[in-house]
Amino acid sequence: MSDGMGERVSDAIVPGWEVVIGLEVHAELATATKLFSTARNEFGGDPNTNVDPVSLGLPGSLPVLNEKAVELAIRVGLALDCEIGRSVFARKNYFYPDMPKDFQISQYELPINGRGHLELPDGRTVGIERAHLEEDTGKSTHVGGGGRIHEAGHSLVDYNRAGVPLIEIVGAPDLRGPEDARAYVAELRAILVAIGASDGKMEEGSMRVDCNVSVRREGAAEFGTRCEIKNINSLRSLGRAIEYEARRQVDLIEAGEAVQQQTRHWNEDEGRTHTLRSKEEAYDYRYFPEPDLVPVDPSDEWIDEIRATLPALPRERRHRLAEAAGVDTAAAALTVERGMDDLAVDAIAAGADAARVLVHVDNNLADGAGRLTADAFAALVAMEVGGDLTATQAKTVLADLVASGGDPAAHAATHGFEAMDTGELESLVDRLIADHPDDWAGFVGGDDKERKKKSGFFVGQVMKATQGQADGRIVNELLERRAAGG
Ligand code: ADP
Ligand code: MG
Repeated sequence: MSDGMGERVSDAIVPGWEVVIGLEVHAELATATKLFSTARNEFGGDPNTNVDPVSLGLPGSLPVLNEKAVELAIRVGLALDCEIGRSVFARKNYFYPDMPKDFQISQYELPINGRGHLELPDGRTVGIERAHLEEDTGKSTHVGGGGRIHEAGHSLVDYNRAGVPLIEIVGAPDLRGPEDARAYVAELRAILVAIGASDGKMEEGSMRVDCNVSVRREGAAEFGTRCEIKNINSLRSLGRAIEYEARRQVDLIEAGEAVQQQTRHWNEDEGRTHTLRSKEEAYDYRYFPEPDLVPVDPSDEWIDEIRATLPALPRERRHRLAEAAGVDTAAAALTVERGMDDLAVDAIAAGADAARVLVHVDNNLADGAGRLTADAFAALVAMEVGGDLTATQAKTVLADLVASGGDPAAHAATHGFEAMDTGELESLVDRLIADHPDDWAGFVGGDDKERKKKSGFFVGQVMKATQGQADGRIVNELLERRAAGG
């Protein structure tokens, strides 16, 4: 999420136009059993092995609410700073072959979680309108004709997913481009995983995104008419779908036509959206309160108990590291995303230079910290900053510490890394300047590009002469000093 957050990318799509995006994210809750029955909630089983009378919608079966699902929904509400309150289940009536009851039990007027918000890595907040509980549907497979229902010879249905608990998180239309949308989904996923509410796996369908997109001329006060895009399965598709859809809407308006409110389908292979249904064809779900379930009214004590078990959230961890390191939250995001922030904060607390710590964590600890401790990390950085180790040597010692732990000074000694005597280095630099007068003239009198090139040349010569023992930073300082007449 460090890639360009904070920029308003909407400009890049169509100049003069602003894209407005609001996302509806469905996440499967990580319960052992389904929302209203004891059938297992498990991905990847043989078809129709995790079923029971309730998830098959058999006549006479009755739903019994899964307390764990309610707890996980409350965890989501707490993590998103939502107003949590009394909620009522409702029947949402529509026909679909993978939904045997012909209605879905959802929440409508009274969701378990009301308004809240989410903070992006760059510190901007996005409103949450609601986050309610509902059951998932089963899954149809259309056989033949490329998997589309209208070309299929026959269809198969698997009810393993029917009745799996979902949380639907409805975001406010606060996002302004593909980068915003991707950052929002990535943050939401990180939160859901951190609090143990969901595994957040988009590729297994346990996190699914419906994307509402509209466009308006820059500076316009009113939102434009939106289209809702379904079937987005990855962060990459999300960005592509938004770009395509925004261009399509701008083209329509610029051609003098109006955007029709529609539900559209994203076709990943074709790279375009197409109409599923228009507003006129929208379902009338005829919601009414589910008569087989009582309202859910969690007590303040229970909510407090759940709150006490929440881990530090990505947002809090970014703020903690940002404060310790003296950087902004966006600069702390990658370290937190990779789960290295505790190490970084502890190393900084042990006295390490914060900038060097972040550089090492983000660039030189790609495979994790291994046996590196915060104290050894701090000692290593101190040696590097104090000039006892060059950046290259520090990297080598860091790899040793990751592999086998121990003390950085001992590893440095094993490699024969010794700080070069500054006096020695100075006379070497002076000798090189005398031996290469043309290069030196280029360094002293050249433009920025030339100067950079020549500094590279001299540092290279020094490294060659010292077998890499010298510190490039100090060589550069010496060159600058000599060029200034010092
Ligand atoms: P519905 O109940 O028909 O789904 P909502 O008002 O609840 O409509 O909005 C659903 C989603 O659409 C929300 O995520 C919201 O942020 C988004 N949305 C609403 N208006 C717009 C708009 N003009 N442009 C983009 N997204 C929008
Ligand atoms: Mg909706």
